[in-house]
Amino acid sequence: MGLRGGGGWGGRAGVPAPGWTCLLLCASLRSLLASPGSEVNLLDSRTVMGDLGWIAYPKNGWEEIGEVDENYAPIHTYQVCKVMEQNQNNWLLTSWISNEGASRIFIELKFTLRDCNSLPGGLGTCKETFNMYYFESDDEDGRNIKENQYIKIDTIAADESFTELDLGDRVMKLNTEVRDVGPLTKKGFYLAFQDVGACIALVSVRVYYKKCPSVIRNLARFPDTITGADSSQLLEVSGICVNHSVTDEAPKMHCSAEGEWLVPIGKCLCKAGYEEKNNTCQVCRPGFFKASPHSPSCSKCPPHSYTLDEASTSCLCEEHYFRRESDPPTMACTTPSPVSSVKKGKITKNSVSLSWQEPDRPNGIILEYEIKYFEKDQETSYTIIKSKETTITADGLKPGSAYIFQIRARTAAGYGGFSRRFEFETSPVLAASSDQSQIPVIVVSVTVGVILLAVVIGFLLSGSCCDHGCGWASSLRAVAYPSLIWRCGYSKAKQDPEEEKMHFHNGHIKLPGVRTYIDPHTYEDPNQAVHEFAKEIEASCITIERVIGAGEFGEVCSGRLKLQGKREFPVAIKTLKVGYTEKQRRDFLGEASIMGQFDHPNIIHLEGVVTKSKPVMIVTEYMENGSLDTFLKKNDGQFTVIQLVGMLRGIASGMKYLSDMGYVHRDLAARNILINSNLVCKVSDFGLSRVLEDDPEAAYTTRGGKIPIRWTAPEAIAFRKFTSASDVWSYGIVMWEVMSYGERPYWEMTNQDVIKAVEEGYRLPSPMDCPAALYQLMLDCWQKDRNSRPKFDEIVSMLDKLIRNPSSLKTLVNASSRVSNLLVEHSPAGSGAYRSVGEWLEAIKMGRYTEIFMENGYSSMDAVAQVTLEDLRRLGVTLVGHQKKIMSSLQELKVQLVNGMVPL
Ligand code: AMP
Repeated sequence: MGLRGGGGWGGRAGVPAPGWTCLLLCASLRSLLASPGSEVNLLDSRTVMGDLGWIAYPKNGWEEIGEVDENYAPIHTYQVCKVMEQNQNNWLLTSWISNEGASRIFIELKFTLRDCNSLPGGLGTCKETFNMYYFESDDEDGRNIKENQYIKIDTIAADESFTELDLGDRVMKLNTEVRDVGPLTKKGFYLAFQDVGACIALVSVRVYYKKCPSVIRNLARFPDTITGADSSQLLEVSGICVNHSVTDEAPKMHCSAEGEWLVPIGKCLCKAGYEEKNNTCQVCRPGFFKASPHSPSCSKCPPHSYTLDEASTSCLCEEHYFRRESDPPTMACTTPSPVSSVKKGKITKNSVSLSWQEPDRPNGIILEYEIKYFEKDQETSYTIIKSKETTITADGLKPGSAYIFQIRARTAAGYGGFSRRFEFETSPVLAASSDQSQIPVIVVSVTVGVILLAVVIGFLLSGSCCDHGCGWASSLRAVAYPSLIWRCGYSKAKQDPEEEKMHFHNGHIKLPGVRTYIDPHTYEDPNQAVHEFAKEIEASCITIERVIGAGEFGEVCSGRLKLQGKREFPVAIKTLKVGYTEKQRRDFLGEASIMGQFDHPNIIHLEGVVTKSKPVMIVTEYMENGSLDTFLKKNDGQFTVIQLVGMLRGIASGMKYLSDMGYVHRDLAARNILINSNLVCKVSDFGLSRVLEDDPEAAYTTRGGKIPIRWTAPEAIAFRKFTSASDVWSYGIVMWEVMSYGERPYWEMTNQDVIKAVEEGYRLPSPMDCPAALYQLMLDCWQKDRNSRPKFDEIVSMLDKLIRNPSSLKTLVNASSRVSNLLVEHSPAGSGAYRSVGEWLEAIKMGRYTEIFMENGYSSMDAVAQVTLEDLRRLGVTLVGHQKKIMSSLQELKVQLVNGMVPL
């Protein structure tokens, strides 16, 4: 069997035969001694290769049998068999054993014991037990202690003893006994085995402690944990989440005295972008995503979305596909279901009218439609019209030609796909004369003639146009080359001012497209709109200096803003008063969401908002001179006409920008224009529903809305048709306010009277000393037919022309030119024939001056007709508004006396 050496009990009767240990050891002893995973050996006599260093005394007591196994590894077996002798006390002491921090250790003994009955003659002294002891010490110095200092662990008896017969049968009866000791308080200990007259072979001694081995449970790693000192103790252990996982509920487990993990509590979850596999968190592969730790595993990107990265938490929508902010990332990206049913309406030789239905599943609120069309087979030159309506008329088309139309919708998420192509043909030109063959010849001749004429004019102008009116010359050239207009030009749609039309050639827009205003209402979360359009400013960057006004939501202050890397500069700060409701906060910040979309020198500039701390603030550029109406009243008569026109030009330019953006102001008035120290005017006061709610001028109409009647176009008052054209009407009133230095439009007339008078065709009279060209522009803005009013770009060019040519402002409005544009308050019978001065003054609400007039000799209408401004001042009529009112009424009277009154 490969065992060398021998010795031990000889073949004498009663003495164990040599070789029994050999037999025992050869029976795959090592596997018998293998320790379970949760046990950590402190000593295993079987695995010690060299000397064990144990001490036996007296010398003839325990003895070591020097055997080796088949691998020549020593087998440390101690035996003693003094069964025939009295008073045996044989000790075997181990070397010092470190307990490695364990406070409870286990001792496993494997031994054989001879049955005393099988020993003839030895019965009197023979024992069948031995004792085991321990002694604690921090180091190896404790070895020479006295026997009585050892603490007894137990008396060890054999479960199985063996006889001579068993030996003959070569059956070994190996006993295994385990005892535990604790709590241990020192770093180590010695063990001692005391024999008092037994026949023992101590085959192995294994000392170990138990631990709960490191384990991953519920994605939390629990470390190796030595069991408690008490055999019934449960240790609570906290787990640590494995890589790429996060705590869901704090993970904990209990380690039992037996080294088993019990009662797991809490868990970790693989974070977004990772999934659980074999107790680890594995990254989601490209094409897969996991949005939240709570999702069980990585999922394939939903339809029409993709991700090229590992560890994706969401997938990106493919081009032309969208997902709303509020949609979960598990949702497929969709495209607004394309417009499917397109119907043709009226078709003429130059135009095609279309209508269509809103898509069934528009994927959000439709902000506008884009209509693309081009002549069949000419796709490289196409036109795009944007419209908020579901109808459109494409005009300027060639007669008798087929056109292809495609429509797509835009939501807050972007554009959907284009509809299929719809083909419609314009009507052909019908021949008026019977000789149709002449038509092409005539057309060609006329065209050639026009071109030649235009070329000649263009040539004549080309040398001299640049000091005044290059624009005029270039428009002439455009007439000469009409095809250029078609291919390259930008034109406003004729059908509706809310439409926008652009032409493209070979994929390039010929003039830069116009950005459109996005109504913050289209955002489900208004906070998102604010942060999309307004920068968040830290409150610490703002210094508030003084209160300059009162807004609807709180005070307006002036102060300074210091942004990183910029010089400090003055700002206006609108604050939201404490105790606001959520709606007030939304409405307050709504103004910033609108203002933040604009970037124009004549629109008040938004610096940013403070929403992360209180008070909530809107920070804008500071306008030193405040609101225009107050400023003009304070500086009555102090500016040149050019300065006033300059102010009006700025306001018109700001309004042109707003109308190009598709934004309708609805409350354009001098009080809502701010003016800075350079007399630059800027349009302000943007708001959502509250625009008209906070304006003290706004009054409730019969339809329930609140409208600033004096500034509002009749169609907006009557049926809420607010458009850029109604803003133009308001602009005309602002012109009147500016030219009359902040006079109140329609003076003290009631709103009802204003509505009635305007409806009947009366208009504000020209302010005093107003250039005729400006008053004419005002009247144009107040055209009843909104499509006949000038557009803001036309107003800007008109004012530019006047500024460039100041002499054009010299002609002032005179009485005769005002005759057909008079506004009459409470006109008695419309004849202008007042029976008394008192009646006249009452009629114009100046009755308070009757007595003064009478006392100073102005007792008849004839006498009154001679009154001058100087006279009025002398009479004590010092209020400029009253002077103007009386003087304009007098002018009217004079005219009426001659012509009678003719409304517009
Ligand atoms: P609002 O709430 O916009 O009507 O503002 C109330 C008042 O505060 C205005 O009438 C102005 O007198 C003043 N104000 C508002 N914004 C500014 C600004 N940017 N610069 C100077 N004054 C302002």
